[in-house]
Amino acid sequence: NSNDIIILLTKCINFAAVKHKNQRRKDKEQTPYINHPIGVGYILTNEAGITDPVVIQAAFLHDTVEDTNTTFEELKETFGNDVADVVAEVTDDKTLDKMERKRLQIENVKSSSPHAKLVKLADKLYNLRDLDQTIPVGWTPERAREYFEWAEKVTDSFSENSLKVIHRSDAKEFTIELPP
Ligand code: NDP
Ligand code: ZN
Repeated sequence: NSNDIIILLTKCINFAAVKHKNQRRKDKEQTPYINHPIGVGYILTNEAGITDPVVIQAAFLHDTVEDTNTTFEELKETFGNDVADVVAEVTDDKTLDKMERKRLQIENVKSSSPHAKLVKLADKLYNLRDLDQTIPVGWTPERAREYFEWAEKVTDSFSENSLKVIHRSDAKEFTIELPP
């Protein structure tokens, strides 16, 4: 029931906040990192209208394994296999070098589950909006532009009836378009 869902989602947000507590985004203002996973969940619920609890939990938790000491076992125990599996699908293998990880994202997203695609798309959308606001410390405009091109390759490989990131030519507006 809805009480259980409220309790569960709050548990998720709190779990992510504790895990990311010492991390900051790469922008000049050093925004608290937790703004990002919360924002990804916000895009899915409030912009795309997605209310599947597994997707929203995975959105809040999506960077916990990649960027903190969280393990998949911990996610399984705390939030169940379905949520942990979606997080696993959107988590890079950090033993690989950066260029290989980027190539694999383009490759792996093609065969990923619809749940994982939603999280991945909202994640990219959030990061592109962030980059559009301000270029991270130490980045050149070229590097930001390359990130846009790569993100487009990741999301372009989604199947026809999945969500899409729309890039306006002025690169100012990014929206999620729901399938018909
Ligand atoms: P990174 O992968 O290093 O950084 C982008 C990631 O940082 C995002 O996917 C996002 O991941 C996170 N992030 C945190 N804060 C922000 C923010 N404010 N805006 C956007 N994203 C943010 O970047 P690149 O893809 O450019 O680099 C890949 C590799 O190439 C690195 O090894 C880098 O050192 C190297 N490199 C590339 C250059 C280039 O010109 N392309 C130049 C120099 C080095 P999350 O969703 O997980 O938070
Ligand atoms: Zn992310």
